[in-house]
Amino acid sequence: MAFRRNGAKQAGLTSMVQLRLFPTTEQSVALAAAAKVANQAANVVSVLAWRQQCFGRVALHRLAYLAVRAEVRGLGAQAANLAIAQVHAAYANRRATRKRAHVFRPHGAVPYDARMLTFNRAARTASLWTPTGRVHIAYAGRDADRHAIDTLPVGEADLVFRGGKWLLQVTVTHPKPEVNEPEAGFLGVDQGLANLAVTSDGVVLPGKALPGTIAGNGHIRGLRRRRHRQRRRLQRKGTPSARRVLRRLAGRERRMMTDVNHQISSHVVREAERTGRGVAMEDLRGIRGRVRAHRFQRRTLHGWAFAQQAAFTRYKAALAGVAFVLVDAAYTSQCCPRCGCVSRRNRPARGRFDCIRCGLAGHADHIAALNIARRGVEGWGTVNSPHATGLPSARRDRESKPPVSVGGG
Ligand SMILES: [Zn+2]
Repeated sequence: MAFRRNGAKQAGLTSMVQLRLFPTTEQSVALAAAAKVANQAANVVSVLAWRQQCFGRVALHRLAYLAVRAEVRGLGAQAANLAIAQVHAAYANRRATRKRAHVFRPHGAVPYDARMLTFNRAARTASLWTPTGRVHIAYAGRDADRHAIDTLPVGEADLVFRGGKWLLQVTVTHPKPEVNEPEAGFLGVDQGLANLAVTSDGVVLPGKALPGTIAGNGHIRGLRRRRHRQRRRLQRKGTPSARRVLRRLAGRERRMMTDVNHQISSHVVREAERTGRGVAMEDLRGIRGRVRAHRFQRRTLHGWAFAQQAAFTRYKAALAGVAFVLVDAAYTSQCCPRCGCVSRRNRPARGRFDCIRCGLAGHADHIAALNIARRGVEGWGTVNSPHATGLPSARRDRESKPPVSVGGG
């Protein structure tokens, strides 16, 4: 994942680029040996760590360094360091995995750092450590990825063997762009169950605005429903093979959601950038027990997918210099953006908004997104102006006109 590694520690933003390596047969053997040795080392360290219940990076180094170098032949000093760091990371913040020793697959990713991996950018070759010596291997990648390698500081990398291909997944650091003043206001994004996102422009996502077939047709709901029924059936069965299928389905669904979240967040940030706006989303932390909590706790969509969409959007906004704010999620679905009337009765039916005071009617998620956009403007003002009044949003709503007219739905 692009957002995990080093993200917080470095001054800039990191992302991951993927290069394909073209090793000769001999070099391929050397890379396979590197994968074997590295994962063997990680397993040795992992067992030591788990036995001693020692997971701190420094303590683990003290405990495992000499042992792993003695036990795993061909392991260099730096490869040993990285194996220890890898084990530390595997156990960090994941209490569940501490129940037993974490196992690294023999063909799992091999971590590399600047001492073990260098690029010859002119020749487009990468020089990689292997247990049998350095190998210099030609690489290729998408234009943007090659350009990133050519121009940006390179951090850690993973060597991965997948689908018969050797890949290098390299972390690069982007300079942090200045955040542009959102002159034209904010694009509000309402996250929901029926529609994963609806913008204050009335764009429903996933939907026609997205390029992919699944996301573009908005077929996700149907897919999820089918998966859910399939899951229920398998859970009732409860056999080991059923459990295996369940795990595979869960993985597939997670990947699909991640892909869709990438598409949604890209669209939203691109749209905001194009129109000189910032992006506003609801702050869903601590939403439990709040008015709209039920919308985010249904069995069919886990909270992580909402959090992921927000995280992707925030990250991409930062890369593009687009302002991003999280706003208070209270009553965004019951508040009228025209007259400010807040009432549960503004929602006569599922998916409908119909203001009992002024008669403003529309698609409920779109109305919510308009409220979120408004709160984005207010939130930005509060953050950036020392003399901001900080009026409660419901009252501010009453004092101003809606930013755009709302079509029926
Ligand atoms: Zn109204």
